[in-house]
Amino acid sequence: MTSPQIATNSVVVVGGGFGGLFSALAVRERLPERPVVLLEPNSNFIFQPLLYELLSGEMKSWEVAPRYRDLLASRQMVWLQERVSRIDLDAGWLDTDHGSRLEWGDLVLATGTEPNDFGIPGVEHHAQGFRSLDDVARLRERIHWLRQQRQSDAALVIVGAGPTGVELACKLSDLLEGAAVIHLVEMGEQILPRSRAFNRARAEAALERRQVKLHLSTSVTAVTEDQVQLEGGTALRHDGLIWSAGSRPSLPPLQPESEVNRRGISITADLRVSGQTHVFAIGDTAHHAEAPWPGTAQVAMQQGEAIAAALAAMATGNDPEPFQFQDRGEMLSLGIGDATLTGLGVTLAGPLAFKLRRATYLTRQPGLSLGLRSAGAWLLNR
Ligand SMILES: Cc1cc2nc3c(=O)[nH]c(=O)nc-3n(C[C@H](O)[C@H](O)[C@H](O)COP(=O)(O)OP(=O)(O)OC[C@H]3O[C@@H](n4cnc5c(N)ncnc54)[C@H](O)[C@@H]3O)c2cc1C
Repeated sequence: MTSPQIATNSVVVVGGGFGGLFSALAVRERLPERPVVLLEPNSNFIFQPLLYELLSGEMKSWEVAPRYRDLLASRQMVWLQERVSRIDLDAGWLDTDHGSRLEWGDLVLATGTEPNDFGIPGVEHHAQGFRSLDDVARLRERIHWLRQQRQSDAALVIVGAGPTGVELACKLSDLLEGAAVIHLVEMGEQILPRSRAFNRARAEAALERRQVKLHLSTSVTAVTEDQVQLEGGTALRHDGLIWSAGSRPSLPPLQPESEVNRRGISITADLRVSGQTHVFAIGDTAHHAEAPWPGTAQVAMQQGEAIAAALAAMATGNDPEPFQFQDRGEMLSLGIGDATLTGLGVTLAGPLAFKLRRATYLTRQPGLSLGLRSAGAWLLNR
């Protein structure tokens, strides 16, 4: 087994998404004496909230998916483009798929989630997700094909009317310009069950304006190449199926297993893995029983920054403070040039909300100029 030379006081971060990347950058800034090692197998950081705008061409891939190589240049941290394959928390080492074994001074687990098909037959083979650059490329091809075919019974089916399903339905409708009917299937009684009332009302109006066919209180029981079977025996024909109905924590095999359940790895209020002093877990893959923080980029980024504060406290012999989530609002993309947002006492919809959403997210991109970072930062200011 080959092992890179890693200092024993290193902060090792597993996963370079919102939680992992922001914790690595925050630790570098706050504790420059601590070596930082980031393990992330992908080449590009994906700013998922802006994937819809990448699909529509309203934004470019360098804005939405910058390369780690560029993001981390001159940040003075080690990036290993490797996937962690197992971790022994008690023994204090991890292995990667490239055969490296690493030990840590402190470990941060930020491995996010993966799609969950809930065991429904056919989903794995006949549905696509919407979270990666490959997903965007596949969907672009599908849109192109549908626009060329112009068949009268063409249909796209999206399953799950949470933020991803609703935002995607609006954007796809604008891009297809009538080339296919869009069905949005949701097992709950309403769309966006966890959203603010203002945003939900705007989203409902946006779907109605675009004649998206909404199927509420409807469960999918099976999927084939061209059919979506619904509870009660009916079926929808489809020329493309997008699954946005759920996700589950993604974690490499972990010893001991006792702290992992279906909601993720169990953490305490200060973001440490239960029973561990030098192991933290953050973002979508972590779960604190008494404070179910939402699985959002906003939470993951704030937790990433809280890691630096926790390590600084521990360096002076103090305990880390409990993590406090600052809810700065919610923004939804609702088609080309349209959005809705609610936050810090502000509610806004339409083209201005679209511009503000875009500017606000750009200020969140690590590695952008300070001028751009300041634009729109008043809404979701950290
Ligand atoms: C289309 C879409 C739109 C969204 N829009 C919004 C929005 O508008 N607002 C909002 O707040 N949230 C939004 N979210 C949710 C948000 O993106 C997630 O909550 C956030 O990414 C969670 O951050 P994370 O760091 O926990 O995980 P992620 O950002 O998913 O990062 C996990 C990283 O870990 C890496 N990894 C996984 N396993 C391993 C391993 N074994 N070894 C090494 N690395 C590993 C992965 O490659 C990945 O880069 C959206 C999500 C999607 C899919």
